[in-house]
Amino acid sequence: MSTKNEPLHMVMADAEGQIFDHPELLMLCRHGRQWGPPRPDEIIPLPKESELFLLPGRHAVGLDSQGQIQVTDDLAVAAFLAPAHTISAHPCYATADQAPMLPLFAYGAVGFAHGRFFVCAKKVDNDPRQQFSHIPRKRIEQKAAELKKRYADNRLVQHIINNCVARYDCPAARNFALGRFEAPLPSSRTCNARCLGCISEQEKHSPIAVTPQCRLGFTPKASEIAQVMQIHASREREKPIFSFGQGCEGDPLQNASLLEESIAIYRQGGGAGTINVNTNGSRPEVLPALAKAGLTSIRVSLNSARPELYRFYYRPKTYQFSDALESLRCARRLGLFVSLNFLYFPGISDTEEEFEALSQLVGENGVSLIQLRNLNIDPEWYLKNVEQGPGLPATSGMGLSSFLKRLKRRCPWLQFGYFNPWLGERAEISAPLPGDWQVPSPEDCKN
Ligand code: SF4
Repeated sequence: MSTKNEPLHMVMADAEGQIFDHPELLMLCRHGRQWGPPRPDEIIPLPKESELFLLPGRHAVGLDSQGQIQVTDDLAVAAFLAPAHTISAHPCYATADQAPMLPLFAYGAVGFAHGRFFVCAKKVDNDPRQQFSHIPRKRIEQKAAELKKRYADNRLVQHIINNCVARYDCPAARNFALGRFEAPLPSSRTCNARCLGCISEQEKHSPIAVTPQCRLGFTPKASEIAQVMQIHASREREKPIFSFGQGCEGDPLQNASLLEESIAIYRQGGGAGTINVNTNGSRPEVLPALAKAGLTSIRVSLNSARPELYRFYYRPKTYQFSDALESLRCARRLGLFVSLNFLYFPGISDTEEEFEALSQLVGENGVSLIQLRNLNIDPEWYLKNVEQGPGLPATSGMGLSSFLKRLKRRCPWLQFGYFNPWLGERAEISAPLPGDWQVPSPEDCKN
């Protein structure tokens, strides 16, 4: 979509919450510490099923015709994008002294032109699995109620319906209710990390007042987990995917033997489909048994491929960054499909430092896919704390599009996406085995 005939105007909201565009001031956006107009290659129309947020205690700012930054009295506005989209810039605003910390969402920069909203973002996955606007809410509720009644003795079914569908509106849980795509398998009450942006549990003195979900309050039995898988496979007959490691739980590898037993029950009963674990990757030693039981893929979360920034965000309690890397290698050797859940933060994740570290990590550790998720956190708070902690990268962000192009050039087998792919029971893998990667010459990796 071209906006070249009309620049993007600043978007703001009045005290009544009415959102409108400024007649003169132009949109500014933030790439890390840098403020400026959006890059032409990062503007897309606001995707369907996205939402606009008002940012409390934050004044909208824009660029006047003299190129000067102007602070308005109006509230700043941000976009929370539909799944499958990665934001490439945050909004610019002036924060008042008493402004509350923003809750755990991703805040995309938004502007207005040609009678519509535009955002700085990229669609990174064409899979429609988390599109719901064509499905009446009533239908999801009906299907959920049927499952709840039919499986009254299964505590995991009850948790998914009562909490994940009804309270958290979790897309994976809604898909389980509808019997399509990927089903969630929450199983763990505990975690061995203390992520700054954990959405299921924060410490008592955390500045993050509320988490969008609550930590699972019981440990399901293997038979309950296997039954959830069987229910889902009986309804999504073509491409069922099952994923341990959800927003409402700790890290699933904390209960590795429970996962092993559930997977074995399901597979021994002839269960088909892709079984995946989303994890911090802290326990490589448990992966061989899981692979033997019938696990297909693993997705390891990282906010950074550099140990200092990783430790700053994950605050691991009982493991090291090197254990997460060992999990990637171990999984690849076992024939598991390996993804990263890369928590992208514009202006930090796409710097030269991060590109070098991430491309090396991908090449050396058998990674096939990077899922480009947004780091859900107050952007100013994160920047300030990174600056005071491990330090901000010395270089500026190169932009999401350039970052992905350069990664692909250096690691040609690498795929990008947003969701865990359907892979059958066992994936075809083209990522090199650990130790086999030859670093391409600088000539091959030019911009
Ligand atoms: S690894 Fe997951 S569950 Fe554990 S603290 Fe981080 S976000 Fe929370």
